[in-house]
Amino acid sequence: MIDLSIAQTKQGLKDKKFSAVELTQAYLDRIAATDEKLHSYITVTGDLALKKAKEIDKKGDYSGLLEGIPMNLKDVVCTAGIKTTACSKILENFVPPYNAHMYDRLLAAGSILLGKTNTDEFTMGSSSENSYFGVTHNPWNLEYVSGGSSGGPAASVSADQCAFSIGTDTGGSIRQPASLCGTVGLKVTYGRVPRHGCISYASSFDTIGPFTKTVEDAALVLQAIAGRSEKDATTPDMSVPDYSGFLKEDLKGVTLGVPKEYFAEGVEKEVSDSILEAIEVMKKLGAKIIEVSLPLTKYAIPTYYILVKSEGSTNMARYDGIKYGHTTDAAKELQEIYMKSRSEGFGDEVKRTIMLGTYALSAGYYDAFYLKAAKVRALMKKEFEEVFEKCDALITPTSPTPAFKIGEKTDDPLAMYMCDVLTTPINLAGICGMSVPAGFSSKGLPIGLQIIANQFKEDNLFHVGHAFEQATEWHKKKPALI
Ligand code: GLN
Repeated sequence: MIDLSIAQTKQGLKDKKFSAVELTQAYLDRIAATDEKLHSYITVTGDLALKKAKEIDKKGDYSGLLEGIPMNLKDVVCTAGIKTTACSKILENFVPPYNAHMYDRLLAAGSILLGKTNTDEFTMGSSSENSYFGVTHNPWNLEYVSGGSSGGPAASVSADQCAFSIGTDTGGSIRQPASLCGTVGLKVTYGRVPRHGCISYASSFDTIGPFTKTVEDAALVLQAIAGRSEKDATTPDMSVPDYSGFLKEDLKGVTLGVPKEYFAEGVEKEVSDSILEAIEVMKKLGAKIIEVSLPLTKYAIPTYYILVKSEGSTNMARYDGIKYGHTTDAAKELQEIYMKSRSEGFGDEVKRTIMLGTYALSAGYYDAFYLKAAKVRALMKKEFEEVFEKCDALITPTSPTPAFKIGEKTDDPLAMYMCDVLTTPINLAGICGMSVPAGFSSKGLPIGLQIIANQFKEDNLFHVGHAFEQATEWHKKKPALI
């Protein structure tokens, strides 16, 4: 039962083929059997999960949106009474006093928390190698990275260690690991899902969204977590459509744009070939395909990293070794407590964020770096708006390469930053995107297709993604783990 989609699991529960307790136990057994190899989970909340499952079975009503569905949360989503570490030494023993608002929505919808999953420290990274607790391995080949920063969520969905997972995407951290592990990963429009209670990296970029086994499941989870929240002023007062109504089997009347800059140098041929093949499938489903151009794409990486590191450096200022989190044992003076707690508590990439961001924001450099990047961001937004006057969605690769070997890029931060070259423009523009499985490399590693749509047009992602999924078998393939 652990390889079923959410939609199939709901049916199984309703038809009494299995109980929520049996289902939860099956996932916990799977975690116990596989997590030593994968290391997706930081904390497993088995007792809590079984307790909730029992309550649900006792009620016997499985009609809630996610009633009885076991899931996990990336370890930056605050869970009251359950450790939330951001995979940093500085929060190693942090237990939040409250729930993230979207976690409350998941609980209200009936889902069951199996545990908290691995990420690059404070979500800074593209391979999950920056986690204080160690790397998450790719289920398709354990010598390869699972992607990042949401490596734990991606690997756990791919390896059937949960029915779905929740990750965050600031510059690609849902779509890129989804692509590398062969799952569906949805990056929502900025503001579609409340960020309250989610540990911040870059506040004007961060988004929360699901990893699932099918596009239909992504629509289901989004239905449960989207919408205005009094606790997050960046969520607009807009109604949440019935996303399942957009899951159609064909693409008649749909215009898809193919931006040529997303097939440029640096994108491996195996990857672009898979996407071109996928475009042929979409053509057969009735879509009209047009070539479009987004010339500012080449500025995405420098623009993104200046802005994100600037926001990140200010967000890290709250970890001072005093209010909460790690406090050094080796200091007597106040200044020394700050310095030593932070030196001991943060890893290399977080320190790089603090240094780059502080530099870009300092008097004298602010105009040259931060302000200029903010202007480029505005232009990129405009460029996307113009393209979306001509088409309903864009089709691109998600990641320029399939998964790479653990350790391959750890000494070269710039090479690591380039992993996000096809995902960061979407975060800069605040629009939405989704990665869906679209092939395999000659080494047997998954390749993901990115669908991009305008602000609050998640319905277009679901329409295109679902139709493509129905016409292909990629999402049905499973890694041979044990
Ligand atoms: N790798 C990117 C970064 O470090 C994206 C991470 C993310 O989306 N959280 O900024």
